[in-house]
Order: sequence, then C-alpha cells, then structure tokens
Amino acid sequence: MTALLEVEDLKVAYGKIEAVKGISFTVEEGQVVTLIGTNGAGKTTTLRTLSGLLKPLSGRISFNGQPLNGIPAHKIVAMGLAHSPEGRRIFPRLSIMENLQLGAFLRKDTAGIEKDLQRAYDLFPILGERRKQAAGTLSGGEQQMLAMGRALMSQPKLLMLDEPSMGLSPIMMQKIMSTIVELKSQGTTILLVEQNAQAALSLADQGHVMEVGSIVLSGTGQDLMTDESVRKAYLGED
Ligand code: ATP
Repeated sequence: MTALLEVEDLKVAYGKIEAVKGISFTVEEGQVVTLIGTNGAGKTTTLRTLSGLLKPLSGRISFNGQPLNGIPAHKIVAMGLAHSPEGRRIFPRLSIMENLQLGAFLRKDTAGIEKDLQRAYDLFPILGERRKQAAGTLSGGEQQMLAMGRALMSQPKLLMLDEPSMGLSPIMMQKIMSTIVELKSQGTTILLVEQNAQAALSLADQGHVMEVGSIVLSGTGQDLMTDESVRKAYLGED
C-alpha cells in the first residue's frame, strides 16, 4: 500500500539559504505524524511547501498517489490537503461562522457544509456559542480552535497543523491535543508540527526530529520519547 503522503529528498531554499536540505518521510492514512525541532529547523517551510505556498528546489512530493510538484495551492486544497497555519491567520473582522464557511469555499454541497459546521461546533462548543461574533474577539487559544475548525471544513484527507499549541495556556493546550486525538479516532490523518515535543510525541504514531533543515532522527512517538538524545535536547532533561 502506498502512503497518503510521500516526501522524497525535498529541498527548499529562500534565495541562497537552504532551509530544508533533502528530507524524506511518509504519512500513512489514519496516522498522526509529527515533525519536532527547535526554531528555524525548517518545519514551517516544509508545511508551506506541501501546501503549494513555496516552490521546492528539488525533490518529490506525492499525495494520494498524485505528484504535487507544480500544482497551485488552491488545487492542493481541492485534492484534500488542508493547512492550519502558524499564527492562526483567521479573519478578525469576519464572524466565527464566516471564518468557518471560508474553509469550505471549494465545496458546493450545502447540506454537507452545514453538517461540518455543526461538527466544528461539537468539537469546539465555544465556537458555536459565539458563532455570530467577530473572530478577532476570540482569545488566542480560541482562535487556534477556529483555525483548526476552518481547515477541517474543506473535508481534508490530510490535516496539517503548524504549532497548534503555540502561546496557549496548559489547559487550552490540553484541549487542542485531546481534539487531535479525537480527530484521529474519527479517521483524520494528521501531520503535526510542534515545538512542544512532549505533547506531540505522546500522541504521534511516527515522529521525525528536524535540525537545521534535516531529519536527524525518526521513530515511533514512544521510541522518540524514550530516546536519550531527544529527552536531553527536547524534553528538558539533563
Ligand atoms: P519555527 O518553529 O521558529 O517556525 P521552523 O522549524 O518552522 O521554526 P522555518 O520557519 O521553516 O523553521 O525556518 C527555517 C529557516 O528558514 C530558518 O533559518 C529561517 O530563518 C529561514 N526562513 C524562514 N522563512 C524565511 C523567509 N521568508 N526568507 C528567508 N529565510 C526564511
């Protein structure tokens, strides 16, 4: 069986700066796969390239059996790859409901969209309670929920989450992480980028450690959590 996402020897550069230096990994259907690593490791660059927002220097990306190289971002969304970006990027003046509906802009099945709106409100009740309110009035954690909900509105085969725990209180972070577990149990495949290695590895089937543009270590979430070098570098242990 081929993987849902296959990345092979991917290189991405900003001018002369090579931010991703030939990485390879796969995401199987139904899995949660995480990329962890410190600031500047190239995690966000990888996700932005998979979404079609950046053009790779070289390498091969295949999604659901089709090559993604050279395909524009909106077509990639239509193929089933959704991205909840770092820093949330919600539309602050639009209502919460309008933000969610924008996630479904490529869909025409009104009844299905309505059902998925309800699903977003079930996952995150606060979004339902405040559906008519301007999204800019939400707290940081709530905006993160909205960004995730919006990405889900495109009915993705693969959901990419860039640092969903960034800047959140421990309680909010717990909520986001338990939502990821819930989405997985509903069959959503997830590629999760996180600086919070502990949280990400504890729920990931597979993890990859990135350092200055390369994957330096790969394994199951459990294996990486117990790996001594990972514990020292990323889990804050001596
Ligand atoms: P963070 O967690 O801080 O977002 P990251 O692992 O996601 O880190 P990237 O944002 O992918 O890392 O950055 C990888 C490298 O590329 C860094 O050295 C960064 O400074 C550089 N970089 C990122 N965006 C640009 C840009 N628009 N122009 C030039 N260099 C960039």
